[in-house]
Amino acid sequence: MRRVIILGSTGSIGTQALDVIRRNPDRFQVAGLAAASNHDLLVGQIREFIPPVVAVSDEAAATELRAGLEGTKGLKSVDIVAGPDAAESIARDLEAEVVLNAMVGSVGLAPTLSALQSGKTLALANKESLIVGGELVMDLVKGEPERLVPVDSEHAALAQCLRGESRDDLKRVIITASGGPFRGWTREELAKASVKEALAHPTWKMGPKITIDSATLMNKGLEVIEAHYLFNLDYSEIDVVVHPESIVHGIAEFGDGAMMAQLSKPDMRLPIQLALSFPERLAAGVEPLNLAALGRLTFEELDREAFPAVDLCYRAGRAGSTFPAVLNAANEIGVMAFLEGKLPMTGIPDVVATVLDEHEPVSVVSVVSLERADTWARHRAAELIESR
Ligand code: MG
Repeated sequence: MRRVIILGSTGSIGTQALDVIRRNPDRFQVAGLAAASNHDLLVGQIREFIPPVVAVSDEAAATELRAGLEGTKGLKSVDIVAGPDAAESIARDLEAEVVLNAMVGSVGLAPTLSALQSGKTLALANKESLIVGGELVMDLVKGEPERLVPVDSEHAALAQCLRGESRDDLKRVIITASGGPFRGWTREELAKASVKEALAHPTWKMGPKITIDSATLMNKGLEVIEAHYLFNLDYSEIDVVVHPESIVHGIAEFGDGAMMAQLSKPDMRLPIQLALSFPERLAAGVEPLNLAALGRLTFEELDREAFPAVDLCYRAGRAGSTFPAVLNAANEIGVMAFLEGKLPMTGIPDVVATVLDEHEPVSVVSVVSLERADTWARHRAAELIESR
């Protein structure tokens, strides 16, 4: 039995993770939940899974939650902790084998570090942890890489393609991108893209932040940085190809010209359950593909001009230091402004590019210097958006 702590339990990944646990009650037990919002859903999750501890972001949410749970039988033993550091503290203090970090944004870094510092295995869906604090995170799993299991579908695919292979034989990896809802659009057309259009992703159902990142293709760029850290690859060894069907998720190319690819339906429950049960595969998986019914799979070149976000990520990743943290922070502000109608979609990479241009990196990367860079970039991005 694996005890699992889920951070971000009411989001898209969190609810799907609980579905995996629901279908495998003999394998997993919920040791703790953390959620920032969606009160009714959280009440339902607590009633169903009866976790010993639940973390929420503030005292008001805790009071509301206690009221919502009142009168539920068998819930006397549920301990509700509140505060901005509540997720981080349950990731560190609770007894569990696995922490699934499915929080949104750079706030996920602190819980990632505390889960790893306390010796647990981290199933990582919060890619921002690696973008912002990649060096700090990877330092904590030096010599025991199996303690960090990617939940991102592309990286879960690559981890499968690389199983049992010698690192020396690997030539490069290729991450696939669906191309999002605006594949084939020009930059002029993209400038007029609406929030509604951007939120209608053709193949994946996800939360709003990552859906917008998938529309600008920033998500793919972030995944390049993620791959750099997870698999210790140079940026010249990571490529992106557009694959609209989202069936092939990742490809490893070896020195002899062989390529290994991982294929499956675009269903996040597969990488989630693989991460929770790693290195075992569970029998109750997702429905397999019918290849003949699919007929064909297509691949095309990325339009780097219409979607400059990918190259911004290569640039920030290569520059290292606090640059990826700054890129991520400016992007979070840009995405929020777009969702609020304050910025056209094409303004997001523009703002990120300017903030990167202006950034003065630090020589020593630490939690404190990353936080400072993050705060500076958020302020600067907000100013740029305000003055447009
Ligand atoms: Mg992905």
